Amino acid sequence: MHRQMQGHLKRGLEREMKTWHTKEEFKSAFTKKAGILYDKELHDLTRSEVYQIIAYMVRDLVSDNWIRTNKAYVEKKTKQIYYFSIEFLLGRLLESNLIGVDGEAVCREGLRDLGWELADILPEERDPGLGNGGLGRLAACFIDSLAALQMPGHGCSLRYQYGLFKQKMVDDYQVELPDNWLVNGFPWEVKRADKAVHVAFCGNAYMRPADNGELECVYEGASYVRAVPYDVPIIGYRNNTVNTLRLWRAEYSRDDVYRELSLGDRHQAFLYKDSVQRISRFLYPDDSTEDGRRLRLMQEYFMVSAGVQSIIRHYKKKYKAPLTAFADYMGIHINDTHPALVIPELMRIFMDEEGLSWNQAWQITVRTVAYTNHTVLPEALERWSIPMFKSLLPRIYLILEELNERWLKKVRTLYPGDEGKARDVAVLWGGQVHMAHLAVLGSHSTNGVAEIHSQILKDSTLHQLYTCFPSRFGNKTNGISHRRWLIQANPQLAALLDDTIGTDWHGSPERLEELMAYCNDASFLERLDGVKRERKRILGSYLLKQYGVSVDVDSIFDVQIKRIHLYKRQLLNILHILHLYRRLKDDPSLVIAPRTYFFGGKAAASYDEAKQTIRLISIVSRMINDDRRISKMLRVMFLENYNVSLGQILFPAADVSEQISTAGKEASGTGNMKFMMNGALTLGTMDGANIEIRRRVGDENCVIFGLRADAVMNYYIHGGYSSWEVYSSDENIRKVMDSLINGSIGDHEIFGMLYESLLDRNDEYFVLKDFEAYCGGQREIVRRYKNRRSWLHSSAVNIAQSGYFSSDRTIRQYAADIWHIQGVKV
Ligand SMILES: *Cc1c(COP(=O)(O)O)cnc(C)c1O
Repeated sequence: MHRQMQGHLKRGLEREMKTWHTKEEFKSAFTKKAGILYDKELHDLTRSEVYQIIAYMVRDLVSDNWIRTNKAYVEKKTKQIYYFSIEFLLGRLLESNLIGVDGEAVCREGLRDLGWELADILPEERDPGLGNGGLGRLAACFIDSLAALQMPGHGCSLRYQYGLFKQKMVDDYQVELPDNWLVNGFPWEVKRADKAVHVAFCGNAYMRPADNGELECVYEGASYVRAVPYDVPIIGYRNNTVNTLRLWRAEYSRDDVYRELSLGDRHQAFLYKDSVQRISRFLYPDDSTEDGRRLRLMQEYFMVSAGVQSIIRHYKKKYKAPLTAFADYMGIHINDTHPALVIPELMRIFMDEEGLSWNQAWQITVRTVAYTNHTVLPEALERWSIPMFKSLLPRIYLILEELNERWLKKVRTLYPGDEGKARDVAVLWGGQVHMAHLAVLGSHSTNGVAEIHSQILKDSTLHQLYTCFPSRFGNKTNGISHRRWLIQANPQLAALLDDTIGTDWHGSPERLEELMAYCNDASFLERLDGVKRERKRILGSYLLKQYGVSVDVDSIFDVQIKRIHLYKRQLLNILHILHLYRRLKDDPSLVIAPRTYFFGGKAAASYDEAKQTIRLISIVSRMINDDRRISKMLRVMFLENYNVSLGQILFPAADVSEQISTAGKEASGTGNMKFMMNGALTLGTMDGANIEIRRRVGDENCVIFGLRADAVMNYYIHGGYSSWEVYSSDENIRKVMDSLINGSIGDHEIFGMLYESLLDRNDEYFVLKDFEAYCGGQREIVRRYKNRRSWLHSSAVNIAQSGYFSSDRTIRQYAADIWHIQGVKV
């Protein structure tokens, strides 16, 4: 294989992609690799070993292209983008990589000859849960698109020893189990010990006059942590591009341990080792509230400093251009504010190590960095206490102090006497470091992730900064990889699309729109019906196998899968289910369209209300499913441990996509796009990207209900909402709420808690306010579902219009408007 590659190199021709061309070729490569890795008879291999062998075979296929890709970028002096994100929720990589190298079919056939089914091997891979939810999954879709579009863009993050906890349901409670995903190793990573760097924490930093009369920084007594990169190849879709996801791991250096030991203190040496390793041990199980704050801040700076050091080193070594041109060749994008310390870290290196002036360093930094905001909830904006920050990162703190001082001086000159303005744009204020303010100030671009979200940022969350830098603000509506969420997750649908409109949509997802011509084609709709039924059956047999429960594939599959959060309003969904249950209880002759409600999602371990919501769903589900009469029409499933792999089974099987957040609260959502692409109809509020989905498919092909964001905002600002009033004036609400506490549908303390939160605590997220509209939406869904033909038409329109929501479109927009990069042929 290598000889063949070198031949190509010498000829310098446009290269064919490297793959196994025949199953014989696959089998011979497999046998060889098995011999090298395990040295035993093929029939003695375990499934896990088979998985490892294929993974290493894929790596062999791409290893030359990995090198060539990096070479191409450097030789052409291409501008490269580094996407910094504290999370990358990758999902399993074997199947997507096999698809990427166009080797899936041959691998499946070859394995079958050898006595294995690929479908049995794929689940052997541990799903790398290096993220919590939407934010981390977005990062994964983005690097997938960058490689698919042959764009010079890489990821930078942490190599957590434990990913997001594994959720197990025990007696209706969520139990969090550690996710020791590295136990069998991670065949996709390559440790690059030679590229390790050191990250400084603690110690003392102060300024003193230097010989040249300027001030210089003295930083002494710091502790150093070794940061070692583990690189994961990000394989382009059937092209030769292989980009890099660089994951940093904190390691102690032997020298430091020996130093502690030579001081004669074994205990000290142990403590040192442990404190270092803790930095990259756990992923924080919540992306909106922080605890264990000091360690989290250490993680952020560790990632940032290691990443920035390696980029600058790469630039100096390979680009050999002056630092003043840095931003012409290197771009850093920060996914939310967790990596916002790239700004003072660039300043530190430019000034302290490269000798640039403040103004020079600042200019390059701002030109280098771009920022994506992910939340409108002010309470979720990241802030750090200054005393903690200062003790952990003294040199970085000095830079922030200087930055803040220069900035506020300017603001106070422009807006004399307006301390409210100063407060709303300050980096340091009220004893805290304001990371979002730092991110806007120290970057050339700030974007939200859906139109409504970007507008709210300008109008309210970051309004004062917007007035200072109006041209920096923009919108980039999120997207999802249609490769993972359609081609890979739903091969049945992908095959039908290929048959109907050809395969051009694989490379140009906007061409899914060609399907519009078939949305009234009876034979196409019949086949679409067949695909959906098949996917519902696949989900059904998965549930039967995993949990021994059976579901009615003729019922409407109504799915709400996402993190459990009050603003996402799983409570609204469950309250409606209780309403249906109460009506069925009250009237034994009542018949309703059969429905199966699926829930899935993790609650942050420290988020009590969210955990209670899970408990409520679990209890309601048992109560309803155990009712022999009612469970023929109504079933509720809480599926444990929602992650990317489970999502790949659920999205294709859904008829209805529940996107029911309180309007104005969900920045974008991306689950909504995965459902749409798989032909589900959105039942949603005017929030996040739901608005843009609706604009594309029209009201005939989705069901929108409820309060609008401006009305919600109005209530928050001016008051005037009383859930008691809604309760008293609406009979359906009264009946279902009363049933929670009068024992008529069962008796559980959790029902009392729900009652209390909605009535006694005035229903912060407007569940009761939107209840009637939501019931109307549910009725509308049933009404439409009963007309099979028109439902399938709507489903087809959703698929046809989903190409816009491919992350390829999103990445093209970032590339054109923010990064100024283009594709590079490898
Ligand atoms: C897409 C995705 C999310 C985000 O879902 P939202 O509905 O947008 O909140 C979260 N978790 C996983 C595993 C996902 O695949």
